[in-house]
Parts: sequence; C-alpha cells; structure tokens
Amino acid sequence: MRCPSRRSAVLGMVLLCGSSIAVANYQDPAAAGAQGGGTGGQVIPVDKLHDRLFVLRGGGGNTAVFLGADGVTVVDTKIPGWGQPLIAKIKELTDKPIVRIINSHTHYDHVGGNVDFPPTIDVVAHANTQVNMKRGVPPKGAESRVPPDVFKANGGKNIAKRTFKDTMTIGQGADRIDLYYFGRGHTDGDAWTVFPALRVMHAGDIFSGKLVPLLDTSNGGSGVEIADTLAKAATVANVDRIITGHSSVMTPADLREYADFNRDFLAYVRAAKKAGRSVDEATSGYTFPEKYKGYRAPREDSIRNSVEAIYGELR
Ligand SMILES: [Zn+2]
Repeated sequence: MRCPSRRSAVLGMVLLCGSSIAVANYQDPAAAGAQGGGTGGQVIPVDKLHDRLFVLRGGGGNTAVFLGADGVTVVDTKIPGWGQPLIAKIKELTDKPIVRIINSHTHYDHVGGNVDFPPTIDVVAHANTQVNMKRGVPPKGAESRVPPDVFKANGGKNIAKRTFKDTMTIGQGADRIDLYYFGRGHTDGDAWTVFPALRVMHAGDIFSGKLVPLLDTSNGGSGVEIADTLAKAATVANVDRIITGHSSVMTPADLREYADFNRDFLAYVRAAKKAGRSVDEATSGYTFPEKYKGYRAPREDSIRNSVEAIYGELR
C-alpha cells in the first residue's frame, strides 16, 4: 500500500520545507483515484524559463530541466514516489534522453526520485552530499516526519556517482553547466548549479525562499557560516535568475538580501546567547526586522530550530 507512505512523505516535506506551492498542488493519490503505481494527483506544473530550461514544481523541491545537445540534465528529483511522474513530464517536454541528475543536497525531497531513473544514469553531487546520501541520516528536527531512507530501501541505487569539491564544469558552449560549492549552510554539501548561457542558477535549499533558514546540523549545516556562503554565491557572474529550493524564481539581489537576513539573524542569536537567554527566550524574543519584506518562518518551530542549531555551534 503506497498511498499512506506517499502522503506522509508529502506531509513531511511540507512540514520540513514549508512550501505553500507544494501544499497547493498536492492531492492525496487515493483521493484522486490513483491505483498501484498510478500518477493521479501527482501534479507537476511547468514554468518555462527558456526554450531549453524549465522549472518543474510540486512533489518537493523545485526541479530544473535543462536540454543540452547530448540530452537532458535534471537538477533534483523530488520526494520518493515522484520520479516516474517527473520522467513522464520531462518526456512531454522533449524527445531527448535523460542523461544526468544533479542533486543540490541530500534531503529526501530533492533526491527521492533518483531511484526511479535507470541505473546507467550519471548522478552528480558535492562530495559531502555523496557521503550524506550513504549515511542516510534524516534532517535535524524533522526525524519523526520524514519517509524511510530511499537509497537504503533500493540498495544504494543512484546515489551520487561523480562528485566535486569546489567547482565542476560539465559540457561546453551553450550546453555548459557550472557547479559550485561555497561552504556550509543548509547542509555541508549544498551545490549551486549555473547554466551560464542562459544566465540562470539553481540554488537548492540553501536558498529555499525568503524563510528562516533550515539548518540541518545532522548533515553538516551551519548557521554560523550560511551568510558567508550565500554572499559568495551571490558574486557568481552572468546570473540574472535564481531557481530557489521551494519558492518562486528570484534574483541575485534577493540572494544578497537573503545573505544579509541570515547575517542579521546570526547576530541576533549571538547577542541573545551572550546575554544569557535560553533558546526559548531567544526564540520568543525574535521579530522579523522591518527591512526584510515578505520573510517568514515556514513552521511554528522553525525559529526555535534555527536558534538551537546556532546555540549548539556557538558552544
Ligand atoms: Zn533540504
């Protein structure tokens, strides 16, 4: 019986990452009348950024689909159970073969569909993300609400096969893809994927939206370092648009602002700790600074989790 686990996986993703888009698009497969491996209710809306680049929403993190001369590159594969509908949607967009997955980080709502792709596919990620995929430790603070590890359940199928440390370039000219690692943040393996010919970057969850950051310290995340990491990413040349992990497409100015937001958040938490306040006191005392418009906490416990993570690092 797949529906309950699929449903709990989606709820877990919503709780973890707070994507209102995913909530709006999700229908329980049972309620939608799907049977067995059917894809009823698994709605994947498509945003076309360019003739060769699409954002596929729903079912977890935002997926980028890039059409190159040698085939299709897919950045992130959504929650477990959404690989097949993702592949079906890509086939509606192009006849080209899918040749490559890039995973922005280890979380189940970005890698869950990997196992539905053929075992011959190229899978690229940061070296630390490959380690995290093999370890299969759930995100800090979300342990009770995430699905079972999809790689363990599938004998390690389509864990990252090719890794990089600082940068990696795939292809050339109009097909070129640049991967960057700028340091710890959401995890210790957050990859930034840039399509320079199209001036677009895919950020993953280190920039999931205008949200209090989710700092997954179980997978190397850092609230002390995230602002510096974001600021470095904002200096990448030839980028006009940024595909966020779970929100709308944003700009380098938004990314710079998000780096500032995180720096100010860290300063607040640092000061609270220095003043001897407890995690609860620091949490209840936090208010979003006036200058950051549209920022929010995706969950009730988001601020507390982030405060706690930073207190742990400052110890
Ligand atoms: Zn994540």
